[in-house]
This record gives sequence, C-alpha cells and structure tokens, in this order.
Amino acid sequence: MEATTEAWMDRALRMAKEALENGEVPVGCLMVYKNEILAMGRNEVNETKNATRHAEMVAIDQVLDWCHQHDKDPDEVFAHTALYVTVEPCIMCAAALRMMKIPLVVYGCQNERFGGCGSVLNISSDDLIGTGEPFQCIAGYRAEEAVEMLKTFYRQENPNAPKSKVRKKECSK
Ligand SMILES: [Zn+2]
Repeated sequence: MEATTEAWMDRALRMAKEALENGEVPVGCLMVYKNEILAMGRNEVNETKNATRHAEMVAIDQVLDWCHQHDKDPDEVFAHTALYVTVEPCIMCAAALRMMKIPLVVYGCQNERFGGCGSVLNISSDDLIGTGEPFQCIAGYRAEEAVEMLKTFYRQENPNAPKSKVRKKECSK
C-alpha cells in the first residue's frame, strides 16, 4: 500500500472510531484535494436525527464550505478530490459522489446491505444517463479494522442478540 494512502486511511479510521464513541455507526472519511485534507467526516445520523448525515455527505458539505472560504470553483475542486472512506459508500452517497464528479474513491470493507459501488448497485461504474461519468473505486484498504469497528457497534447496540444474528450484521452499515 502506498504510504500516503495508508496515512489517509488511518485518519479515516480515526474518524470512524470517533463515530463509534458517539453512538454512531462507525464510518469515517476524508476528502483529499491535491494532497491537502479539505474535509474529515463521520456518521452523524443519530446525533442529528437525520438519516442523510452519512460521513460522505458531511464531508461534501465541508468541501463546499472550504471552496466558499477560499473562493474556489467547487467543480474544479471536486474533479481533483479523492475520497478515503472506511466502508463502501451506500447507494445514496455513491449517487451524490457521482453527481459531485469525484473521480476516485478508496474504501475499506464492503457494505453488503446498501453498497452503491458494487455490493447492491453499481452506481460507481454503470452507464447512467445524465448523471455524470463513472468514478474509480479501489476497495479493501484496512477492511478488517473497519469490519471490527462495525461488529463492536452492533454488539453494543444489541447485546442480547443471539450470536448467529450478530454475525449476520458484520459488515452492514
Ligand atoms: Zn451513505
């Protein structure tokens, strides 16, 4: 693994850990533009009671704020921004990433229930009319640690669940 990718994924995992510590599904991400971190997001769904506040959506808003503050064109910035995220983006986030024209997504584990980059739908790579170009996905970075955190979360959420049930939820978001 490339040294910088390792470093970015490390930061994303730390964001996921922060989500876990705040009672959120542990997913964390980073938006990196020309080697500069513009955004660090994590799930905020439970705290905000807003089901759309996934790590990636939070990060998109931060990038837009950054563009506004630095008088940059968001189209140009997103076109040169990579997303590093601990779990495969869900269908909603994959669609948003595609519409924002983010060219590259590096992620940890699969999202079997809602994954939009191959697991459930192929929003990253399908030919979809009027929704921009496909984006590149690189999967599997630090996947075991990402899964481990999800397991911890679901164990906390439902400590009385029979073991087989807990196991089934291992890598769902
Ligand atoms: Zn999502």
